[in-house]
Amino acid sequence: MSEHILVSIAWPYASAKIHVGNVTGSHLPGDINARYHRLAGDRVLMVSGSDSHGTPITVVADREGKSPRDVFEHFHHGFLELFLRLGISYDLFTHTDTVNHHHVSQDFFRTLMEKGYLYSQVQEQMYSEAEGRFLPDRYVEGTCPKCGYEDARGDQCDNCNTLLDPKDLINPRSKVDGSTPVIRETEHFFLDLPKLARAGLAEWLQHGKEHWRPNVINFARNYVGKGLQSRPITRDLAWGIPVPVPGWETKCLYVWFEAVIGYFSASVEWAHNQGEPESWKDWWYNPAAKTQYFIGKDNIPFHAVIWPAELMGVRQLYEDDPSKELNLPYDVPANEFMNLEGAGMSGSRNWAVWMDQALDRYSPDALRYYLTVAMPETRDTDWLWNDFVRRNNDELVAAWGNLANRALTFAYKRFDRHVPTPGPLEDIDRRLLARIEDGFEPIGQLIAGCKFRTALHETMALAREANRYLEEKGPWFQIKENVEAAGTTIYVALKAIDSLKVLFAPFLPFSSERLHQVLGYEGALFGESYTATFEEEGGRIHEALCYDGSKATGEWKASELPPGQALRQPHPLFEKLDENVIEEERARLGLTDV
Ligand SMILES: [Zn+2]
Repeated sequence: MSEHILVSIAWPYASAKIHVGNVTGSHLPGDINARYHRLAGDRVLMVSGSDSHGTPITVVADREGKSPRDVFEHFHHGFLELFLRLGISYDLFTHTDTVNHHHVSQDFFRTLMEKGYLYSQVQEQMYSEAEGRFLPDRYVEGTCPKCGYEDARGDQCDNCNTLLDPKDLINPRSKVDGSTPVIRETEHFFLDLPKLARAGLAEWLQHGKEHWRPNVINFARNYVGKGLQSRPITRDLAWGIPVPVPGWETKCLYVWFEAVIGYFSASVEWAHNQGEPESWKDWWYNPAAKTQYFIGKDNIPFHAVIWPAELMGVRQLYEDDPSKELNLPYDVPANEFMNLEGAGMSGSRNWAVWMDQALDRYSPDALRYYLTVAMPETRDTDWLWNDFVRRNNDELVAAWGNLANRALTFAYKRFDRHVPTPGPLEDIDRRLLARIEDGFEPIGQLIAGCKFRTALHETMALAREANRYLEEKGPWFQIKENVEAAGTTIYVALKAIDSLKVLFAPFLPFSSERLHQVLGYEGALFGESYTATFEEEGGRIHEALCYDGSKATGEWKASELPPGQALRQPHPLFEKLDENVIEEERARLGLTDV
């Protein structure tokens, strides 16, 4: 039965390039999940976008003497190109500076206010006398009161992930000039999280979360259990979404409040772009729909606690049927972090493998393969260049690529460029085909349950089994004595490869598509990604990544390869990497072993 699956992926700040840790943390697991569900016949909506507001953008704009808009549009454009090259198949990747997102966020704010979950209060905030302005949280740094980390940001400690108020910091300093800020009064709106906790949030976290990752649900329960505090949701900032209250237009919505609303607003925008403006409701008001949030562990409080609180408080928006309620997260499969050669990745220290540069040198599937086997699902992992080369050569090339290439080349040369017609199958033939057919259900369940590493491991184990089958039967010897027997072996091998192509497709879409063509099929497994430009009221224009799945033909099921089907010229699916790559890449990082 077809399900509605909302694949929501953390919104990257459009103020820095994307590195491999960002990709394996959220974009890639979301994409694997979405591609599987599409093959399985489910209705998938995969959304995200660039976070174009907030101080990460203004910090860069200040530093480079540019406008915040120039900064975010530059990085946003780069994200779109990157996702196209890497095959991250967003149905919509938009950004938060659209007219639509501004309206939806303001409507969330107004609804929460009407329902009594917001209140205004005079607040003390860090003020820079040197600059004559209030300092955004991220402009203040100091020592974390909880763990003692000396470079904690005003909004959150990067060491222990605790959400902070800049006033909590010990020895606060301005990130701009290092001066010590003073405390001044200013009025702001607060989200009444204690009231929302009592209204059902705490209760919701206690039930039906057995499928959540333990670190995520434990963090969320702890966080709420210790007693939530109200959090300010407006700021004294010029760059952002204006507070929709008369007299408050010079202040804006705090970015942590409005960015998460992007999952909802992007769904609304997608539906509008489809010409079916109500269709987003199939994911947001259908109680059977599953909404999943692919994020890094630093984002757990926002997606497992605060966003559900916002949804619960709003309860309903743009819907007339009073019985309907907005869907709360079905799962928040947060990943841990990926380090690089033993040390935490850092954009500012340039200690990262930049995704665009990696794509200049390696194929997208080779990168996707490594980023899946080393995905930080349950603990921090490490990008190691020697491991990347070894796994590419020993697993991707040796086990899967060579299997496909050997069988296809043999069929192409010795069976007149066609899938051979098999004779009667023996036990060994039937056993292999049954093993692979039986893999679809459990591997599909693993992907749906966000256990991507195990799913890929199981798929690779089936490829190895097909290799052993080919070794055991030896069609290159069989053909000297009995052409029909060799034809049977090659038919069975091609059928196994045809099934493996589908099992690998969520992880390795580019090579699976090529294999699909070589096997003689018309049409493609997946739809097509493309960029498009949209114009909104008032002439505002924005660029987005979209996906057209209308011509996709792939299905999550075992091969029904027709005997006699004409093949296309085979080529190796993957490239073996030279061992020198390890030294070259380590040298790029400034690591030398000598
Ligand atoms: Zn800390």
